[in-house]
Amino acid sequence: QTKQVGVIMGKIISIANQKGGVGKTTTSVNLSASLAKLGYRVLLVDIDPQGNATSGVGINKADAAKCVYNVLIDEVSAKEVLFPTEIDNLDVIPATIQLAGAEIELVPIISREIRLKKALEELKSEYDYIIIDCPPSLGILTINALTASDSVLIPVQCEYYALEGLSQLLNTIRLVQKHLNTSLMIEGVLLTMLDARTNLGIQVIEEVKKYFQDKVYQSIIPRNVRLGEAPSHGKPITVYDPKSRGAEVYLELAREVVNSDKKVG
Ligand code: ADP
Ligand code: MG
Repeated sequence: QTKQVGVIMGKIISIANQKGGVGKTTTSVNLSASLAKLGYRVLLVDIDPQGNATSGVGINKADAAKCVYNVLIDEVSAKEVLFPTEIDNLDVIPATIQLAGAEIELVPIISREIRLKKALEELKSEYDYIIIDCPPSLGILTINALTASDSVLIPVQCEYYALEGLSQLLNTIRLVQKHLNTSLMIEGVLLTMLDARTNLGIQVIEEVKKYFQDKVYQSIIPRNVRLGEAPSHGKPITVYDPKSRGAEVYLELAREVVNSDKKVG
C-alpha cells in the first residue's frame, strides 16, 4: 500500500492510562504495526519495565543489551538502542526489566522529566509516527512520555467503572500541559475489549461518549481471541492473523489517526 501525503512528520503519541490491563500494550503494538502496514515509518518506544510491547513485536528482551533505561539514565543515544523488527517500516526501542529501577533512579537527576523528549528529538525526522507504550502508573516514566509527546491516546476498557481513575490521568495531563509541554493534546479515547454479547458494553460506550464526546474513536476494539493470542507468538495482529476482526479494527483505527492529522495539518 502506498503512503498518503500531507501528514505531520514525526508525530509522537503516548498510549497512556494508569490502569493495568486496559489494552495499552495491545494498542501500542497493533496501532504501530497497522500504521506501518499503511506505509508510514513507525518507531515503537517501550517504556514499561514489563517489556510486553518489546516482546510483542518479536524482540527477545535477552538480546537487548541496552534498552530505553540506558537512554533515560546514562544518556545513551536513542539510535544506539533501536532495533529493526521483522515488520516493514517498524522499529522499536525496547524496555527490559532493568527499567524497573528508573522510577527511583531518575528522582535526583537533572531535567529528569525531559530525558525522553531530548532523546527522541534526533529521531523525529526519521519516522512518521513514534508510539510510546506507557507503564500502568502516573510516575516519572509516564511523565517523560507525556512531556515528549504531541498527543496522548487513552485506551478505556469497556467494563464497569470504565471512567474510574480517568480524572487522575486527565489531571496529570493538565499538569504536564502547564509545566512541561504546553502543546500536548488528547489524540483520542479508544474503547477496548468490547464484548458484543452484553448490554454492558453499550452502556459503557454511551457513558464514555457523553464524557469525551467527539474525542472517542469510531473504531471500537472488540474482545478478540486472536488479539489475545498474538503476543505469545511475538507478532502484531497484522502478521499473526491479518484477516481477523481484531486486525481489521486496528487498521481502521490507524486510518482514523492518520485522517485526523490530515484535518489538522
Ligand atoms: P495494558 O498494557 O493496558 O496493561 P494489555 O494490552 O497488555 O493491557 O492487555 C491486557 C491483556 O488483555 C493482555 O493479555 C492482552 O493480550 C489482552 N487483550 C488486550 N486487548 C484485547 C482484546 N481486544 N481482545 C482480547 N484480549 C485482549
Ligand atoms: Mg502494558
